[in-house]
Amino acid sequence: SQARTPLMAGNWKMNLNHLEAIAHVQKLAFALSDKDLDAVEVAVLPPFTDLRSVQTLVDGDKLRIRYGAQDISAHDAGAYTGEVSGPMLAKLNCAYAVVGHSERRQYHGEGDELCNAKVKAAYRHGLTPILCVGEPLEVRKAGEHIAHTLAQLDGALKDVPAEQAASLVVAYEPVWAIGTGEVATPEDAQEACAAIRGRLAELYDGALADGVRIQYGGSVKSGNVAAIMAQADVDGALVGGASLDAEEFVKIVRFRD
Ligand code: PEP
Repeated sequence: SQARTPLMAGNWKMNLNHLEAIAHVQKLAFALSDKDLDAVEVAVLPPFTDLRSVQTLVDGDKLRIRYGAQDISAHDAGAYTGEVSGPMLAKLNCAYAVVGHSERRQYHGEGDELCNAKVKAAYRHGLTPILCVGEPLEVRKAGEHIAHTLAQLDGALKDVPAEQAASLVVAYEPVWAIGTGEVATPEDAQEACAAIRGRLAELYDGALADGVRIQYGGSVKSGNVAAIMAQADVDGALVGGASLDAEEFVKIVRFRD
C-alpha cells in the first residue's frame, strides 16, 4: 500500500444541514495541516443539500479537502423526480460519488445492474466512484463472503473500460459491521481487500489492480483504524458515524500517530 495514497472519506449519511456542514468542514480545515494532507487524502461525503455550501467554502479558502456525493443518478437529465445527476455533481466540482452503499442496496432496492449504470454515470462526468461492496451476516456465516463481494464487484464493473477503472475506489463494507460497533478484524478486512485486488487483476491487469485504492468500512474509529490500515491491501477507510465528530475524524486521518 506504499505507493497508494490512503483515502479517508467521511460518509455523513443523512446528517448535518448546510450550516452544520460549513462548521464541520471549517473544523477539519483548521485541524488538518499540510503535512496531514500530504500523507492522506481527506474527503467528505455530505448530503446533496450541503454540497454547494461545502464547495463555496473549499473554493473560497482553497482547502485541500475533497468532497463528493453519497449517490448519483444513473441518468443524466430528465423525468427522474428526486434524483441528482452526474452533470449536477460535476458542476459542483465533486470529486467522488458513492455507488452501491449497503443502505441504498437494503432500503432502496439497488442491485448490481443499477450500480453498474451509476458507476458508468459517474465516469461519464469525470467523477470517481467509491463503489461499496460487502456481505450481510448470513452470507458470512455461510462462508460465502468472498464470492458474494466479488460478484458485486463484477456486476458493478461490467463493461467498464480499464481507462476508467484505473481511478476506481472500492470500499469493502461488510454489512454486519456498518453502524453496529462491530468492526471486522484486520485479517477479515485484509482477506476481502486482497480478494478484491486479485479480481481487479483478473478483470483488468495487475498494474491497474495495484493502483486502485481499496478502503475498509464498518465501525472504523480512532482506536481501531491503525490495525486495519496496517494491512497490505487496505488503502483507507470509509467512515460513517465517527466522521460526524471532527476531532475523531482528524484522529482517524492521523492513524499513523
Ligand atoms: C458507512 O456508512 O459507510 C459506514 C462504514 O458506517 P459506520 O462507520 O458508522 O459503520
